[in-house]
Amino acid sequence: MFITFEGIDGSGKTTQCQLLKNSLESKGFKVFMTREPGGTKIAEAIRNILLHIHEPIEAMTEVFLYCAARNEHLEKIIIPKQAEGYIVISDRFYDSTIAYQGGGRDLGIDKMKEINKLFIEKATPDLTFFIDSSLNTIEKRIENKELDRIEKEGKEFMIKVRQGYLDLIESEKNNRNFMIIEGDLEIREISNIILKRVEGLLENDRG
Ligand code: ADP
Repeated sequence: MFITFEGIDGSGKTTQCQLLKNSLESKGFKVFMTREPGGTKIAEAIRNILLHIHEPIEAMTEVFLYCAARNEHLEKIIIPKQAEGYIVISDRFYDSTIAYQGGGRDLGIDKMKEINKLFIEKATPDLTFFIDSSLNTIEKRIENKELDRIEKEGKEFMIKVRQGYLDLIESEKNNRNFMIIEGDLEIREISNIILKRVEGLLENDRG
């Protein structure tokens, strides 16, 4: 099983990935948690270019770097770990490129779907949580954090990314298994909603 978490920076994805992992492990499941961009040495090196080199980058260069990291991640982690019987939980996957570069950078949702076709065909997530936290809440949560290159893009950009996610979810409502989560709730309230949904999916899988 393959579960992904999406949302704008600071929405609470990493927190919820970790809590879901802990809950599933305590129930006896084998769980592998990973993140994008990253997950392998090469993909982490690409992550470093993307997030920590504070220089303007061509939008399509950015897309291809994310996709290069994703290919490493897919072939070395996502596919093999599922084959070994792990539930794989990824903090971001190709939906991030569709929302950030498609929506945020105005490259277009459809064009980004087309460029990510290889990944979509090989590993569509069984379930994707979109954690929808308000920008005001996020601002308060990350006010003391040192911001990476994408987080520094600011509010206007993040509004477009959020819209990108909503447009993507709408366009995939007959194909994909998305769940939109109210991200301003308490951490524990959110983790309970997420766990319930995942347990439902695991039961369906068994039945
Ligand atoms: P992301 O991975 O989406 O960037 P994080 O999980 O790292 O977000 O969360 C960003 C910050 O907000 C962290 O300090 C985290 O503890 C806090 N946080 C996450 N979810 C909540 C929540 N529901 N309520 C309050 N604070 C939260």
